[in-house]
Amino acid sequence: MQAVLLPGDRQVEVVDREVPKPGLGEVLVRTRASAICRSDMSLYLGKDVIVGGETAGQGLVIPGHEPAGEIVELGAGVEGLQVGERIAAHLAIGCGRCEHCRRGYLMLCEQWKCLGFDVDGGDAEYFLLPARNALKLPDQVSFLTGALLTDMVGTQYHTQRNLDVRGGSTLAVFGLGPMGAAAVMVGNAFGAEVIAVDLLDARLELASSLGAARTVNSKEQDAVEAIRDFTKGRGVDVAVDCSGAPPAQNAALDVARKQGAVAFVGESRATQINPSDQIIRKLLTVVGGWYFPIWEFEDIARFATRYDLPVERLVTHRYSLVDAAEAFRAFDQRETEKAVFTFDGDAAA
Ligand SMILES: [Zn+2]
Ligand SMILES: [Zn+2]
Repeated sequence: MQAVLLPGDRQVEVVDREVPKPGLGEVLVRTRASAICRSDMSLYLGKDVIVGGETAGQGLVIPGHEPAGEIVELGAGVEGLQVGERIAAHLAIGCGRCEHCRRGYLMLCEQWKCLGFDVDGGDAEYFLLPARNALKLPDQVSFLTGALLTDMVGTQYHTQRNLDVRGGSTLAVFGLGPMGAAAVMVGNAFGAEVIAVDLLDARLELASSLGAARTVNSKEQDAVEAIRDFTKGRGVDVAVDCSGAPPAQNAALDVARKQGAVAFVGESRATQINPSDQIIRKLLTVVGGWYFPIWEFEDIARFATRYDLPVERLVTHRYSLVDAAEAFRAFDQRETEKAVFTFDGDAAA
């Protein structure tokens, strides 16, 4: 089978590998869609790897943590899944026994391994997956949509639902890359009035078409002032930062109303804030948004179907695996937004 490897320094290799055999409790999946994510860039560059242990970022592991496909073989002891079943993959492979795993938060497990960072992922014609990480796709959900539900849409659904985003809420979204665009789409489906903020007009246009009621180009106007204006000085109920950029993180804290909430979703290692004014004296709730507990996927898939979320519109480019070098180059250069490897030239299948 063909598989991608990222040895670092922006090198991309497409290699020939044996199709793996599913072990105890595993299934073999024929990949039908595998999305490229901003976090893959740490592997592409071979440094600053936020996810994964020692071997991540050394080109030893096949990347791809947002795949979907069809089960083609069951390992010993697998129950409740069948050959031919359509699934997406939950990326966090946990021990299955600790309190976090038992509550479905596999990515909080002390021993977790990340698909596509610690173990071979979906940028290959086939990949192995523990059976308990298989997320069954309803018939109406395409492989492409299924792949995108596992990261962007799922993260936004879980985060916004926990912060009680709903009809009557005001929601500000900072940073309109694929994650922010998904935030707009999900917030709109929840019934919130969405205000979308970015520096790029093209992204603001996409946000409008995905249901944002208002957009702010923060290069042209002060986002905090503009949002205070829109909300008559009150601020928004919930602000979500998907940029990871300190000015936007601060703006998110500043535009949230008293007793409102802010979610940080864009990865970031250092920032400066003023807890007294921005959090304490507003009795603000500040949370991190990162994936969803595995049991919630059924709700997420049902939500996407029920509200007919145009998830595939988040995909700007589709590639074959042989064109992986170009796919990663263009993604790194930000010439594409969400890019996905599709297989058999049958992306919508
Ligand atoms: Zn991702
Ligand atoms: Zn565990």
